[in-house]
Amino acid sequence: MSFLSLGLSGFFQRALDELGYDTPTAIQAQAIPAVLEGRDLLAAAETGSGKTAAFVLPLLEKLLGHDGLRSNQVATLVLVPTRELAVQVEEAVKAYTTYYPRRIKSLAVYGGVSINAQMQAMKGGCDLMVATPGRLLDLMEKNAITLDKVQHLVLDEADRMLDLGFADELQQVLSKLPVQRQNLLFSATFPEEVDALINRLLFNPVNIEI
Ligand code: AMP
Repeated sequence: MSFLSLGLSGFFQRALDELGYDTPTAIQAQAIPAVLEGRDLLAAAETGSGKTAAFVLPLLEKLLGHDGLRSNQVATLVLVPTRELAVQVEEAVKAYTTYYPRRIKSLAVYGGVSINAQMQAMKGGCDLMVATPGRLLDLMEKNAITLDKVQHLVLDEADRMLDLGFADELQQVLSKLPVQRQNLLFSATFPEEVDALINRLLFNPVNIEI
């Protein structure tokens, strides 16, 4: 099986070949076509499964024809629990877009560092933002970011996000999103709080268990 046969464009295949991704992993094989179709997605997946590429690649494909963001707007939002994961996911985006046919802007924003550089970097908008919830809210409060153009939302490691006490921040972020959007949720475990989030967030999702 190839990434092309899952519906991704050829320029991704070239970048993935160079990264040594010979074949899609199980989660990629199931998630990529579903996300391309526009379905919501619920995935039980751990780190090491290839889950990052499973959501990043099809969402980048969907951003192909999407242009014209204004200054503080974001098209695709990936929420993650930690700075380390934010950096890691954004590095994956950069690696996969080596041959992307237009300029695509991705940013990682997280707390624990100065907010000013992140505010500057937002100028001109952002195609794909990877953010921890607290810092995202700070940037919204300073009017550096608005979420009213978000079309695709990913919650990565949802269980860890709730474990780390981000439930309130998460609810605040979700309340600022447009109603019409595609939602993807990844979690390794499914305690009650994650189930509640799933019920609130996902519409008729494709279920994937690895
Ligand atoms: P993740 O589960 O997203 O953290 O990915 C785990 C590791 O697997 C990362 O180092 C990825 O670069 C790598 N990886 C993801 N997909 C593939 C693939 N299809 N073939 C080979 N390596 C992969």
